[in-house]
Amino acid sequence: MTQQLGAMQDWKLRVTHLIDHAAREHGDREIVSRWADGSETRTNWAGIRHDALRMTQALRRLGIQPGDRIATLAMNHSRHLVTWYGAVGAGGILHTINPRLFDDQLDYIVNHAEDRVMLFDKIWAPIVERMKPRWPTVEHYICFDNSEPALHFEEWLSPEDGHTEWSDGDERDACMLCYTSGTTGNPKGVIYEHRSTMLHALSAISPPVFGMDCRSVMLPIVPMFHAASWGLPWAGAAAGAKFVYSAVNDGAVLCDLIEREKVTCSAGVPTVWLALFQHIDANGGKLPASLETVVCGGSAMPRTMIERLMRQGVRVAHAWGMTETSPIGTTGAETWNWDELTFEEKVTIKSMQGRPPFGVEIRCVDLDDPTKVLPRDGVTAGALQVRGPWVVKRYFKAEDDAVTAGQWFDTGDVGLIYPDGTLHLTDRTKDVIKSGGEWISSVALENAAIGHPAVSEAAAIGVFHPKWDERPLLVVVKKPGADVSGDDLREFLLGHVAKWWVPDAVVFVDQIPHTGTGKISKKDLREQFSSYAWDAGG
Ligand code: AMP
Repeated sequence: MTQQLGAMQDWKLRVTHLIDHAAREHGDREIVSRWADGSETRTNWAGIRHDALRMTQALRRLGIQPGDRIATLAMNHSRHLVTWYGAVGAGGILHTINPRLFDDQLDYIVNHAEDRVMLFDKIWAPIVERMKPRWPTVEHYICFDNSEPALHFEEWLSPEDGHTEWSDGDERDACMLCYTSGTTGNPKGVIYEHRSTMLHALSAISPPVFGMDCRSVMLPIVPMFHAASWGLPWAGAAAGAKFVYSAVNDGAVLCDLIEREKVTCSAGVPTVWLALFQHIDANGGKLPASLETVVCGGSAMPRTMIERLMRQGVRVAHAWGMTETSPIGTTGAETWNWDELTFEEKVTIKSMQGRPPFGVEIRCVDLDDPTKVLPRDGVTAGALQVRGPWVVKRYFKAEDDAVTAGQWFDTGDVGLIYPDGTLHLTDRTKDVIKSGGEWISSVALENAAIGHPAVSEAAAIGVFHPKWDERPLLVVVKKPGADVSGDDLREFLLGHVAKWWVPDAVVFVDQIPHTGTGKISKKDLREQFSSYAWDAGG
C-alpha cells in the first residue's frame, strides 16, 4: 500500500513569517526603547518590519550571502530588534554576543563563528577597538547609536527603501547562533533553526509560558545577547505584544518604565529583581500595579522573592532552561488544582522549576549509571536530560552529536521530578558537594541562607576536607548595615536543612564573583577558596 500524503499548504516555518504577521495584524503596537543616554524613542511592529527589510537590502549590498554570520554586541533596544529580523531576512545567521565575556572568549567566539558583520552599541566601542586586530573575519563594523568609530546604523540604512522580499530557504536552515558561556573549555555554539525557533515561539506565547497576546506589554529584562533573550523577540511578534526595552538594567529606570508604560509582563534573572526590590525599599515605593506576570529563570529564584511577588498579586513563572534548549525547558505553570492550594503550598511549588510545556520532554538518570532512568517519585535526584524539537542536537562545527542515541541531551543539571511532572533542580553536576560519599545540594543551602534577613547573597561550595572528601563552605555577602555571625547563620540553617548539610564554616565577603551572564561563578569561588583551611575558619 502506498503511503497517502496529506494535502495541506506548504508554509515553511521560517521566522520571517513572525514579523510579517506582527506588521500586518498588530502593525501599530508600540516598541518603546529607553536608551543608555536616557532618551526614549518609539516605533511599532510595522516600523520594525520596514527597517528590517531595509537592513536586508543593506546586508545584500555588502555582499552578505545566506548562511553568513552577522554579529551583535548590544543591549536591548529597537535597532537591535530590527537587526534580529534584518539578519535572518537576508538569509543570514544572527549571532548575539555577550559583551561581558573575557577577551579570550570574545576572540574565540567571533573567529569560530567567522562573523562578517559586527553591529555594536557605542558603550561597547572600547571592546571593538581592542578586539579588531584579533577579528580578521569581520569586514564591516556598524554602530547602533553613534557615527564614531564606525558607520551609524541609520546612515547605513538610509539609501534603502524596504521594497524587497525576504530571502527564501528551507525551514531547517540555521537562523541564529548563541554561544554558551562555558565554565570549562571553549564556549560552544548552539545553532537554532527557523523551524525550531518558530515552534519555540508558538510555545512561548502559550499560557503556561509567557502567556502573551496583543494586550500584553512586555519588558524583557533578559538581555538580547543571553540565550536568545528567552525567545521573546520572536514570540512577541507572534503575539503582537507591545515591547518596552531598556538599554540599562537599573532598578529606578525599570520601575519608572513599568509604571509609565503600564508593563504587564516582565522576564529576567533573579539578581535583576533583587535590584528592583532594593530600589523600591530604599525609596519607600511599591511594585507598579500594572505588573501581572514575572517570568524568572537563569538561576534559582529565592523563595522570599517569590513570596513577595505573589503577595502583591503577581503571577510568578519560575522557569528553567538553557542556551541548548532555545532556552525554554520547564516553566512554573500552575497545576490543575491551583485554586485549592494554600498560599504556602503555592509558594513551595513555585520555588521549584515547574513542568515542561508541550514540546519538551525531561527525565532524570542515575548520576553514576546514566542508563538507569530514575522514577518520578519526588525523592530520587539524578542527572537531568531533555529532548524535543528545540533542543540542541549538535554544537556548531562539532563533528559529533551532543546527544545520546535516544536524542536525550545531558543538561549538566541535577534534579528530581515529582509524580505530577514538576522538576526540582537541586544542583549542577559540577557543583554538588560530595561529603562522605553522600550528595549535598549547594542550591538548597544557598536558598536557605538567602532567607535570613541579614543575607544579601550566598554561595555554597565544596572544599576539600581530609576526612569527608568535601565539606560545604558558605560564602556570604551581608546586607548593608546588617550584622550576623557565622554561628548565627549555621544555627538558622539547622532549621532548614539536614544537620549534616550545615556548612562547617561561613565566610563573609564584600562581593561574590559573577560570570558574564550574571550568575555566581562557582568556578572562581572554588579557586579563591581552594586552599581554605577548615581550622582557621571553623
Ligand atoms: P545558560 O545556558 O547560560 O542560560 O545557563 C543554563 C543553566 O542555568 C542551566 O543549565 C541551569 O544550571 C541554570 N538555570 C537556569 N534556570 C534555572 C532555574 N530556574 N533554577 C536553577 N538553575 C537554573
